[in-house]
Amino acid sequence: MSISSFLMMTNKMNNFDDEDTLKQIDDIFHSKQTRSFELPGPNEPVVLLLSGGMDSLGLWFMLTHKYKLQVYPIIFYPNKSLNSGQWKAIAYMTNLISKRFPNQFHKPHKIKLARGFSYSDIKINEKELLSLIVRNLSTTDVAGTKAVVTNNPTRLFDYISKTIGYIQKWKLQRNIDIKFIFIGFVPEDAEISRESTLSVIRSINLTLSLIFGDYSYRLFAPLDKKNGFFYKKSDILRYAINNNVEIEKSWSCMKSGNIHCGLCPSCKSRKLAFKHAGHRDKTRYIHPYGDITAIPQKVIRQTIAKIQNRFRIKPNIAKTNFTIIKMQLFIHPDVIWNSVDGKVYRLHKTSGILDSLNDVGGFIWRCIANSSAVTIQELIVMVKKEYYINNKKEEKVITKDISAFITDAIEKSYIGFKKKNMK
Ligand SMILES: [Zn+2]
Repeated sequence: MSISSFLMMTNKMNNFDDEDTLKQIDDIFHSKQTRSFELPGPNEPVVLLLSGGMDSLGLWFMLTHKYKLQVYPIIFYPNKSLNSGQWKAIAYMTNLISKRFPNQFHKPHKIKLARGFSYSDIKINEKELLSLIVRNLSTTDVAGTKAVVTNNPTRLFDYISKTIGYIQKWKLQRNIDIKFIFIGFVPEDAEISRESTLSVIRSINLTLSLIFGDYSYRLFAPLDKKNGFFYKKSDILRYAINNNVEIEKSWSCMKSGNIHCGLCPSCKSRKLAFKHAGHRDKTRYIHPYGDITAIPQKVIRQTIAKIQNRFRIKPNIAKTNFTIIKMQLFIHPDVIWNSVDGKVYRLHKTSGILDSLNDVGGFIWRCIANSSAVTIQELIVMVKKEYYINNKKEEKVITKDISAFITDAIEKSYIGFKKKNMK
């Protein structure tokens, strides 16, 4: 299948769930025993997989407050640890639950996991890699971003198998018999990745039951309309806010730091959830409006300083004549891109994000790709010529837009740059 036909096909889909498979699995559970997928009753012990994000933290509160469960949270973190925002968010909710529900509070259990598989590890022909990724995962218009979540598509197996290990251990050591595991996947996630669908969760549930010969194990995620456990991101958010939880203290951003970036797909879907819930978003964002053309000059300067710092550009080189406008730009080696029917699609191998550029963005991209050393200054001239821009007002607008576009691309490692050779 060609990339273009794949993109056309998946754009029409809005959910990865496989209703047919789901029904067949449900029938198997029915034939084995009577208990359906109803939620456990008050005071039942359950495990919740916690990430520090809005959904899992909100779910911790909801399961404790609304469903009166004894929640034992487990945090899986990679070797390089979670980012500081995630730890802070977990600390906030830990404190809140322990104070407001002392009889239902259980300290989160932290488990370090080795770094999982990532598509960026594969060293094969780039075209092959692109087709491998898009065939298995989908593009979506959630939050206005075409995103392909590719990294570590099998992590759920790791999480569940490790969780089961702890459940066994706790049964022996602490005399707690846990049969229920909750995961903070929300319906919006099922639109982005196959991993986050009810059919996948049920199939892992079935595998688990087959391994243990025990059909009373239950995996839950708020994706289950049929059994009345269905909450969108905005529902979880609204429930938390209505019960005096400062949910803005959760962490969604794909980047590390103290302030949300406001531009990545996670930040965008967070903003959207607040909007849908009808609540003011009190989250602090670096880019509150998310529009790359709205990046102020100050942020551009800060970004350049950050880049200088990261690549250890010597201050004496940096301070003389170091303006981004004169930098020679190139397509970052971590990016695979392709032009389909004149439209540029780019896939970032590290973040796993696939997006497309608009007409002007695509033109700029091709100019950078086709030249060995183009500068922003030269790009402005090219765009002016291509789009017949000859008045001062429009020129000012495109200069600002191009600078913002490039800064954003540099910040997200789509474009690299080097200092122009001095004669
Ligand atoms: Zn972000």
